[in-house]
Amino acid sequence: MTHSTKGTALVTGASTGIGAVYADRLARRGYDLILVARNEQRLNTLDRQITAETGRTVLAIPADLNDKAALARIEAILRTDRNITMLVNNAGIGSVASVLDSNADEMEAMISLNITALTRLTYAAAPAFVARGAGTIVNISSAVAIAAEKLNGVYSASKSYVLSFGHRLHQDLADKGVRIQTVLPAATATEFWDVAGYASQKQAASTMSTEDLVDAALAGLDQGELITIPALHDNDDWSRWEAGRLDLSAKLVNAKPAPRYVLPTQARV
Ligand code: NAP
Repeated sequence: MTHSTKGTALVTGASTGIGAVYADRLARRGYDLILVARNEQRLNTLDRQITAETGRTVLAIPADLNDKAALARIEAILRTDRNITMLVNNAGIGSVASVLDSNADEMEAMISLNITALTRLTYAAAPAFVARGAGTIVNISSAVAIAAEKLNGVYSASKSYVLSFGHRLHQDLADKGVRIQTVLPAATATEFWDVAGYASQKQAASTMSTEDLVDAALAGLDQGELITIPALHDNDDWSRWEAGRLDLSAKLVNAKPAPRYVLPTQARV
């Protein structure tokens, strides 16, 4: 079997939802695939379907990315398989529960998948891509990276992490031929909402189809975007937000506290 000239895309969370559509679309674009998720049956079904429809080489690897040994196996593949040219860090779980209705163990598991696994896989892929002189890392964040009050606080914060991480990854890697794209989906019709505890969101009028979401994200990738927000119609809104953030960034370091924080002399102890 000859390998694709586009190389291989490794997609996490590929058994269903956004990841499964990425797998389909990337195969149609000419990538071979490595599909990672826990549900082996679903992965194998998708593997057979994509192989039959596109003729691409697909390898399904069942792995729980919250399991250190399983995660290490995927990291090793990213480091050593020279055909891999793209990593789609998509696996993630969410919640709508408040801090009073969720527990710390569940939140730790969410952090482990949404942050730790994504980070370790990026740390495995980035040097390998730099050594190969090219590569693309797509990290799936969320609109709640910005709209932080909408869902569970740990979930939103985990997606803010992905957004911030991507800014600096771009700075570290852009001149070394490695592309970063951070995608911020808003509500998308997947099982995410069943897991998150708000299943009815899948049918809401404001919810995007999974196909539309992934096709828009890939259009953003084609246009060279660092940040892609498929549901945001006026991109000037994002440009203004970024300009404001960068303007503020330049003002955040000062040897002197702001006058509003200078205590009156008699209050100093
Ligand atoms: P989904 O349909 O529930 O898919 C989640 C995927 O992650 C599944 O393939 C699942 O497969 C995999 N996964 C879950 N736990 C895993 C683990 N421990 N190890 C390995 N794989 C695991 O949800 P989705 O909407 O497609 O979510 C994909 C990404 O989009 C997530 O990062 C999510 O935060 C983000 N997102 C979604 C929405 C939305 O409205 N749907 C909005 C913004 C951002 P297995 O169960 O087989 O492991």
